[in-house]
Amino acid sequence: MAEDFLNPTPTVQGMREFSEGKTVRHCKIVATLGPASSDEETLRSLLVEGLDIARLNFSHGKHEIHAKNIENVRKLAKEVGRHVTILQDLQGPKIRCGQLLEGAIELKKGEKYLLGYGTEQEDPKKIPIDYKDLVRDVKVGQNVMMDDGLLMLQITAIKDKGVEVIVKEGGILRNRKGVNFPDSILSLPALTEKDSNDLLFGIRHQVDVVALSFVQTAQDVIQCKKIIKALGSDIPVIAKIEKLSAVEEIDEIASVVDGLMVARGDLGVEGGVEKVPIFQRKIIESAGKHAKPVIIATQMLESMIQNPRATLAEVTDVANGVLEGADCVMLSGEVAAGKYPVECVKKMNSIIQEVESWSQKKPNRYGFQLTEEKSEWEEHKAIARAACEAADSLHAKAIVCLTLTGSIARLISSWRPKTPVIAISPREDVIQRLGYTWGVYGMRNPLFYNTDILLQDLPQLLHSLKIVSSGDIIVITAGIPINSMRPTNMIKINRIE
Ligand code: PEP
Repeated sequence: MAEDFLNPTPTVQGMREFSEGKTVRHCKIVATLGPASSDEETLRSLLVEGLDIARLNFSHGKHEIHAKNIENVRKLAKEVGRHVTILQDLQGPKIRCGQLLEGAIELKKGEKYLLGYGTEQEDPKKIPIDYKDLVRDVKVGQNVMMDDGLLMLQITAIKDKGVEVIVKEGGILRNRKGVNFPDSILSLPALTEKDSNDLLFGIRHQVDVVALSFVQTAQDVIQCKKIIKALGSDIPVIAKIEKLSAVEEIDEIASVVDGLMVARGDLGVEGGVEKVPIFQRKIIESAGKHAKPVIIATQMLESMIQNPRATLAEVTDVANGVLEGADCVMLSGEVAAGKYPVECVKKMNSIIQEVESWSQKKPNRYGFQLTEEKSEWEEHKAIARAACEAADSLHAKAIVCLTLTGSIARLISSWRPKTPVIAISPREDVIQRLGYTWGVYGMRNPLFYNTDILLQDLPQLLHSLKIVSSGDIIVITAGIPINSMRPTNMIKINRIE
């Protein structure tokens, strides 16, 4: 075997399951780090119990805390022998009300107020919000939600210095609570000044993927990608779908982004909670069509913030997310600030395993139909699909794809094969970025130099790592000749000797 093929020793994500002959989990687990989960012992347990993606929420916490978390995740991932993807979640242009005269006001049904730009309340009948272009962007009749949708107002008139609103559903409004305009497309920047500073921090600290909050249109994603490029990076972007305008434009957004998140918290505020399950389906469907990974987020095991056991409804919610085709399911406050962070990851792991042990036995649907549009990806799509069909019909142990950019692994994953995918790339960043893709596990190896050596060494390498055993079948995809940097153009079926 060629010496440098095994050198440096490849790290393999999730390979323990392969080598122990256990079922490999396809749906991945995202967990948000916070005060309840940032100490080394808890973090180590989270990794051991199956955390695949560590989310850092930049709506909270100082840069020093995030830097420490990044350092610890990297260190512990090495220690426990896993790749863990680090997801930086930017706060985005969230609108808030300012400081109120008494710290809070009671909004009573039928009362009228003036909403206007400002940081401090000067008149009890005026509510300041930190959004300059309000008067220009909204229309009479549109709704305004406050405090995560607990309060509802309606715009009755547009004035010079603000908009007149009438309270439809009242309650107490406190300082700095969030304000949503579900019916309007607001002229907000894709990234605020804070987001740009945070993004620069993230790039410097080599986070693996960034999530953009309050995406309204595909242009927001394009704009964010331009900024990332200007900062000298090609870090992938996940669009958080939490605005109605984003749901309406989901196909356009899915076509330009590297992943989607069903951000159900704000989506429920904007659209009404009853609509969220259907939005979730629409977003998952669009992600599948465009072969982009999708994360389902928020309140998945909410009651476990306080209790060691999940409710039946929560377990069903996670299970349905997996069945609907999510690449990842996400924990937020449950792990960041709850009493039982490790138990939450353990519970998610066991729900996913249970669901997949059933769904993987069902006839293969080969996922979603990719878009009908002809694109430069036609040949890749055909190879990806053929690899899935071959692997599943032969009960292969793994689909092994050699990839420089990771794109073939994502395409294979989008067909949702029963067979797990091992993506081998010489690029560490590519391996890290594949962490949030359904059923794909990464291995770094500087292998690309000779087709003959590759095809002969690869099965041997996987055998020596105990990922496969004698008699197992693997389906290999690669771009040959190897050193010509060709995109994937070959499938080989190999029985391990
Ligand atoms: C959400 O709104 O569901 C979400 C994931 O976003 P955040 O946690 O940033 O509010």
